[in-house]
Amino acid sequence: MVKETGYYDVLGVKPDASDSELKKAYRKMALKFHPDKNPDGAEQFKQISQAYEVLSDEKKRKIYDQGGEEALQGGGGGGEGFHNPFDVFDMFFGGGGGRRGERRVKPTVHNLRVSLDALYKGCTKKLKISRTATCKQCNGRGGAEGAAKTCADCNGRGMKIRMIRMGPMVQQMQSHCESCNGEGETIDHKDRCKKCNGKKQVKEDEIIEVGITPGMRDGEKFVFEGKGDEVVGIDKPGDFVVVLDEIEHGTFVRKGDNLIVQHNIDLSEALCGFVRTITTLDGRHIFYRVLPGEVIAHADVKVIHNEGMPMKRAPSDKGDLLVQFDVKFPDKISPDAAKKLADLLPGKREEIIDEDAEVVELTELDPRASRRNFGEREEFEGHHGGGFGGHAHGPGGVQCQQS
Ligand SMILES: [Zn+2]
Ligand SMILES: [Zn+2]
Repeated sequence: MVKETGYYDVLGVKPDASDSELKKAYRKMALKFHPDKNPDGAEQFKQISQAYEVLSDEKKRKIYDQGGEEALQGGGGGGEGFHNPFDVFDMFFGGGGGRRGERRVKPTVHNLRVSLDALYKGCTKKLKISRTATCKQCNGRGGAEGAAKTCADCNGRGMKIRMIRMGPMVQQMQSHCESCNGEGETIDHKDRCKKCNGKKQVKEDEIIEVGITPGMRDGEKFVFEGKGDEVVGIDKPGDFVVVLDEIEHGTFVRKGDNLIVQHNIDLSEALCGFVRTITTLDGRHIFYRVLPGEVIAHADVKVIHNEGMPMKRAPSDKGDLLVQFDVKFPDKISPDAAKKLADLLPGKREEIIDEDAEVVELTELDPRASRRNFGEREEFEGHHGGGFGGHAHGPGGVQCQQS
């Protein structure tokens, strides 16, 4: 048991989340709340970053699990505090090469939603990107050579000093110079570059192509070197990074190279055989048969080989398709039918009833009462069980859930 779940809640994961689940949660949340995309996201962006910083570090996560946030603040986590959320973001998404210490423009990160079908078949997506580029007309000067003059308001410092009187105290305040926008120099209206209007930069649109190959996964990155923003004074432009974001599919759940499909069958089908068709992600129709005499139990999982996702390195090889069965029992059957079935089905046994045994009633379960009972048991035994009323899903750790 963990002491607090705050950091896990912020990322929307369970306290037993794996490293890859944490990474995925951070990726989705950080892209959603990055202030570039979401002007109101700053606070949430910071929280996500802090939560990820702690939980992605094995040592810090252990301290947090045992003692909560308080334990981390107590210096147990190394006491160095948190990094700037934007640095955490840049480190996570990264750009292309670049030497250490080199001044670099931050990468532009774009989340590209792709269907499972597209990841199965592969496709090329065209993306229109808008980047900030240095104005070529004036070479980023904002006007003709020599047109820039030192700002008279701030003497070229870009900052102004203001005195603020508070009762008997006088405080010096530094503030951004508005005349020159903090740049320390201004260009007269008439001398300004016509193309960028003295701003030194222009917006440029460009179409890039993202080549998705069969078998690619959620979270995979494409780095377009130098296709990000340009900043005056930094030679190399930033990178444009495209991150694949798999859209949940209505029928299939992906687990690595395998696909999982859930089939609901009736009890009569489970006992007497049936046929089901499946439309694959590339539009083929396949079917399987369960022959009379074979029995499918509730939560059984069967495998159809080579009908999973294509493997990225060798797309002609595929993972498996796992079929998970949910057997629907009838609510009631007639006493007549029950008698016939009892004659037909195996597994009858004689129950020997003791002479002084009392007969008791079987009644419907009240979910609230059972939870209470279960809670008490949990305290005594100190472990989690499956819980009543829960939906027991297949053996072998196969769960029909997107994580
Ligand atoms: Zn100024
Ligand atoms: Zn210009």
